[in-house]
Amino acid sequence: MDCKKEENLKNCNCFYPCERKGICCECIAYHRKNDELPACYFDNDNEKTFDRSIKNYCRMKGLL
Ligand code: SF4
Repeated sequence: MDCKKEENLKNCNCFYPCERKGICCECIAYHRKNDELPACYFDNDNEKTFDRSIKNYCRMKGLL
């Protein structure tokens, strides 16, 4: 199965210049290793803070 990078990029809201952009498997693995979530879990305002922490996600969702 080929990587669907070009298709994935259409749905990627990440503003950070990153070589993993569109390669979702690498993106998720990288952030999971750091106890974080990838950009697409966040709305655009929160994404632009580059705070990918689970705590920030819960704050955004009103869970904290
Ligand atoms: S969410 Fe993280 S790993 Fe994924 S493209 Fe953006 S900066 Fe890179």
